Amino acid sequence: MPKKPTSENRCSFCGRPESQARLMLTGLNGFICDSCIQQASQMLKELDRQNPSTFNTGKSIPTPQQIKEYLDQYVIGQDDAKRVLAVSVYNHYKRLKYFSEHQDDTNDVEIEKSNIIIVGETGTGKTLMARTIARMLDVPFCIADATTLTEAGYVGDDVENVLVRLLQAADYDVASAERGIVFIDEIDKIARKSDNPSITRDVSGEGVQQAMLKLLEGAVVNVPPQGGRKHPEQPMIQVNTRNILFIAGGAFDGIERAIASRLKSNVIGYNGTHTREQIDQHNMLRYILPMDLKRFGLIPELVGRFPLLTHLNPLDHDALRRILTEPKNALTKQYQELFKMDGVTLEYDKAALDAIVDTAVEYKLGARGLRSIMENIMNDLMYDLPNKEKGSKVRITKKLALDQINKSSINPTLK
Ligand code: ADP
Repeated sequence: MPKKPTSENRCSFCGRPESQARLMLTGLNGFICDSCIQQASQMLKELDRQNPSTFNTGKSIPTPQQIKEYLDQYVIGQDDAKRVLAVSVYNHYKRLKYFSEHQDDTNDVEIEKSNIIIVGETGTGKTLMARTIARMLDVPFCIADATTLTEAGYVGDDVENVLVRLLQAADYDVASAERGIVFIDEIDKIARKSDNPSITRDVSGEGVQQAMLKLLEGAVVNVPPQGGRKHPEQPMIQVNTRNILFIAGGAFDGIERAIASRLKSNVIGYNGTHTREQIDQHNMLRYILPMDLKRFGLIPELVGRFPLLTHLNPLDHDALRRILTEPKNALTKQYQELFKMDGVTLEYDKAALDAIVDTAVEYKLGARGLRSIMENIMNDLMYDLPNKEKGSKVRITKKLALDQINKSSINPTLK
């Protein structure tokens, strides 16, 4: 550990005397001042930027197991999707390393990327999963909404705008954005509107899918730096999407019916792998195949560019109960923290938690509903919270929870 110099010394690089420096470090044969340290650090950053081979230096790639363990802290259940996502992100890192080490090598095996589609009912954790992954990554990450996209030239965003956010996430460092991950939410909303190519153009459906192909397969794309429409006077930033990983999510409402009818015909035709008894009727998404996405209205070329397809399970009573209390930032913990700031201890009776989950199930509110139920229960208590004595305790009993729920608009029968 270098120690501070004891007498007036000068920086060996810029000559600045110690008295004019905020910090002067002593080496074996000289000194360095804070401003030269800062400059050197800038130069290193610049070097990293220009030479991606320094990517990840000194850092080990998180293993799929580590990625899943991280996800487990925040996302309840959904093990299949977590494993697929973990492997895919791990491979993404490996590809980046591979490309940075084999930049000039043309004879090597090309490792292709594995974009993923996650299919799951709304509110089952698609976005949560994407956001959680983003927190642990050290590559730029953004979430883009497919519903805002239209074919170039029509009202709405051009597909290239998906990359604007990524550029922003990378502080406009193009090389870094080119290694990023993009989560495209609501991919099902750009499904073809009808099977029939009609006279009216499908500018927010098939047209967008066609435009998206280019991004997914890896191309140099012109991105308007501030987003919005392409203006001739606006200078474009060129982004190569070859190494950008795309993860898409969608609810694909009604796709269960297509899966069910496919499975049924398979069972009847004796060639199915599942007999009718084995089929889990409550979770048809388990059996989803790329062909179901095509029937839903995604064009085959697009489906083909997402080699991985995974699903999220519907959240049952058990899962909702765990979501309420177990994640690192579970709702119950968040309120306890809020109370703690006012010096009050908050406790929940088990029966109260069960009642909250029962309400969410009864009114089909899902995981998102847990939050509004909790808000309704806690609101009056939080209103009075600053008047409570420091060191006191508040206990949420089943009766208190139900009284508050019944008073609120959650219970429509009472309104
Ligand atoms: P989706 O993107 O699938 O529509 P979200 O990921 O936005 O759903 O989930 C909505 C909210 O519900 C999240 O913010 C989270 O609080 C909660 N939630 C949903 N699924 C889970 C889960 N599996 N584990 C923990 N919380 C969940």
